[in-house]
Amino acid sequence: MINVVGSYNVDLTLKVSKFPIPGETVFVDEFMTGHGGKGSNQAVSAARLRSKVKFVGAVGRDHHGDRAMEFLKEEGVDTRCVKRKDAPTGTAYIILDGNGETIIMVNRGANYLLAPNDIEGCMDGDILLTQMEIREEVVKTALSTFPGLRILNPAPAVITDQNLLSYVDILTPNEVEFKEISNSDDLSHGAEVLLKRVKKAIIVTLGEHGAVIFTKHRSVRIPAPKVDAIDTTGAGDVFNAALAVFLEKGYDIEEAVEKANIIAAASVKTYGALGPRWEEVEDLLKE
Ligand code: ADP
Repeated sequence: MINVVGSYNVDLTLKVSKFPIPGETVFVDEFMTGHGGKGSNQAVSAARLRSKVKFVGAVGRDHHGDRAMEFLKEEGVDTRCVKRKDAPTGTAYIILDGNGETIIMVNRGANYLLAPNDIEGCMDGDILLTQMEIREEVVKTALSTFPGLRILNPAPAVITDQNLLSYVDILTPNEVEFKEISNSDDLSHGAEVLLKRVKKAIIVTLGEHGAVIFTKHRSVRIPAPKVDAIDTTGAGDVFNAALAVFLEKGYDIEEAVEKANIIAAASVKTYGALGPRWEEVEDLLKE
């Protein structure tokens, strides 16, 4: 079982030809509603790879919360530990202009009401995967009480508790997050500093260049397959989901990163933040 402790957001995307300035009204060209939030994205992407996944999070007692529960169940995710809160379901308001620029505002809503006691007794199995879109004290409770392998995807990179990293086995920042957390522009130096706290490994994702793994003994870069990328939204979520899936299957960290690169690279060839289904990538994994 993979336990994903994290956020669910409904993504409300508005396409406009140009952003309004304060006081101006513009018409919207297209309006789209989708499922998002790093926790939900990672849980669903892992379930699509046929792993048993439990999502531990919170949604509101509202229409969006109902839709979120239906979606997670349809995708085969165990929702018994999703709490319903007296707050709106988390919502991301995304405005996209004609140049591909975005303005994003997030109402954390129910995600922010998830409390440490909500997750007690919720996690079982081998792997914990969590991110920073919920309260840091909840992330800390999850990490400090989970008996199996603990992966923290530090997105967004807002870590204020200096002890948090000491409960992490594998830290998976992207390059920007890595620089923020390590306070260093140099990968090797930053990793050396972070490995004094993180237990096993730091995996820095490098977009089209794949990922680099740092452990106390060595570092190794694992390239990603070359693909024609059309939408890299959620690539990191798919990578983290696949990493958890292959570590749970017993692959070593280098093999798991190699497979996570293959799956995340496949995901950027299509629109949307969610990963491919097992049957879509089965052949690629054999090559
Ligand atoms: P994030 O989405 O968190 O910013 P990255 O951009 O580092 O994270 O991407 C995560 C992973 O997705 C990479 O390690 C790689 O496996 C895959 N990936 C992202 N962009 C590309 C790309 N253009 N070509 C191939 N793989 C990609």
